[in-house]
Amino acid sequence: MKRVALFPGSFDPFTKGHEDIVLRGLSLFDEIVIAIGYNSKKNTRYFEIEFMLGCIRQTFRTYPQISVETYSELTATFARKKGASYLLRGLRNTTDFEYENTISQVNRDLNRNMESVFLITSPTLAAINSSIVREVHRYGGDVSAYLPYSL
Ligand code: ADP
Repeated sequence: MKRVALFPGSFDPFTKGHEDIVLRGLSLFDEIVIAIGYNSKKNTRYFEIEFMLGCIRQTFRTYPQISVETYSELTATFARKKGASYLLRGLRNTTDFEYENTISQVNRDLNRNMESVFLITSPTLAAINSSIVREVHRYGGDVSAYLPYSL
């Protein structure tokens, strides 16, 4: 059986911190599906979803075992559709932990065959935060150091 993991997130934008989690995840999983979640009823994104899809695909173009998709449903449902038995998530700090602790229990209630797997962020990347990257970009700052692709 192939070990397939879903790496879900908003990825608005996808950062070097996210890239690190995916690349480290390759030592645990045969395939990783990066899943960009969005709410079809209210588009509150800063970076267009199709644009981000292209950026992430470009980042991992040399890795056949990594794919990128968008979804607009329960993460547990999408994981089942993709044949993913694992949810990959990154943990930066205690705030992430509190949130992930709750959400992983709900996800497990929704899909008993799925386990969440957490990787602790690499220290040099822990400070990278999508919302701060958005703010810097909004006001014309250079965010290239935080992203694994060029905008
Ligand atoms: P969400 O909206 O689901 O929190 P994000 O796109 O913010 O989605 O994050 C997706 C996953 O990546 C989460 O598990 C989050 O903790 C993790 N993550 C976010 N930033 C970093 C980072 N700098 N280093 C490692 N993991 C990160």
